[in-house]
Amino acid sequence: MKTIRDLNIEGKKVIIRCDFNVPIKDGKIVDDTRIKGALETIKYCLDKDSKVILLSHLGRIKEEADLKKNNLEIVAKRLAELLKQDVLFSEETRGEELEDTINSMEEGELLLIQNTRYEDLDGKKESSNDKDLGKYWASLGDVFINDAFGTIHRAHASNVGIATYLPSAIGFLVEKELNILKELDNPKHPFIVILGGAKVSDKIGVIENLIEKADKILIGGGMAFTFLKAENYEIGKSILDEENIDFCKKIIDKYSNKIILPKDFAVANEYTNEENYRIKNINNISSNEMGLDIGKDTIKLFEDTLKEAAIVMWNGPLGVYEFDKYKKGTNDILKYLTHNNIKTILGGGDIVAAATTGGYKDKVYHASTGGGATLEYLEGKKLPGLEIIK
Ligand code: AMP
Repeated sequence: MKTIRDLNIEGKKVIIRCDFNVPIKDGKIVDDTRIKGALETIKYCLDKDSKVILLSHLGRIKEEADLKKNNLEIVAKRLAELLKQDVLFSEETRGEELEDTINSMEEGELLLIQNTRYEDLDGKKESSNDKDLGKYWASLGDVFINDAFGTIHRAHASNVGIATYLPSAIGFLVEKELNILKELDNPKHPFIVILGGAKVSDKIGVIENLIEKADKILIGGGMAFTFLKAENYEIGKSILDEENIDFCKKIIDKYSNKIILPKDFAVANEYTNEENYRIKNINNISSNEMGLDIGKDTIKLFEDTLKEAAIVMWNGPLGVYEFDKYKKGTNDILKYLTHNNIKTILGGGDIVAAATTGGYKDKVYHASTGGGATLEYLEGKKLPGLEIIK
């Protein structure tokens, strides 16, 4: 895979596709991790006296009203603070003014272009990889660097489109993400996978692709109930992915030595943070109860299994971590892994968000910046943003 080091960028106009899709609340950036993640590649280009042109999406643009709340200018300001240098900002995603700005840029200057998805308002041009748009953006620079891991599994005009027309390479952030995920191609053993989250359907590809390699797969979260239903347990009102009961049954039958299911749960009658919960063994769940977190025996079971792990891959929270009452399972296992220095890769938006709020994100070996991209990599799928660079 061609990396930024393989391209001649000295004094060139370098277009970098970044992932500045940061959470914004009340007009403020709540978490700037993604902006910080892009700095290494940006600084490298600035050090080489490139004229740096940055592109990124922010949120989704479906109607006029989405434009204001997803204006990328806020990121230009934060970037300027972090780099301690001016950052030019183009309100337009194309046009004469943008071209003039670029033509008058000096070496070592930096420009951020407005949210690429502003182009989605009129016929989804960015997200459907409109050929003319990709070609136009490519015409603004000499070389292209894709450093947006979060969208590497999508073919958009601002990644695949531009890369079609320019000498292209991946940036340092994408390189780091890939190098870490590659450790799972031939993992050290015991290799233990933790899967949680809501639905089995989202994780089928991952289970199929990792089950041979993994020594154990610990299953928690809402998806555990479809596996337990397949084993004929009463799961009450717990979340069920009916269509995938057969899939779960087949996996349990074939890999009974690898799949580890919860023994107990924090259960309640309603999906709310208000009601008191009780811990119940899986044999005792009533028809009017639902499981919202793993229970203490399961936490112990998971910890005992993880004790010897050489490497752990984790996708999906083990309970409804958005509710304070049901984040214990996820937090306890995060705590166990980090306290015991067990090499852990977190892949997926929700588990990374849980680790961030719990204060564990910086203590794990790696928290991926791209949930969807990580999942597709683990499913063994080809990632369009990389294929075009290859
Ligand atoms: P996913 O995007 O598939 O990783 O799912 C993440 C979501 O799964 C989070 O919003 C959690 O609240 C949810 N989740 C985890 N455990 C449960 C559970 N026991 N019941 C319902 N939803 C759950």
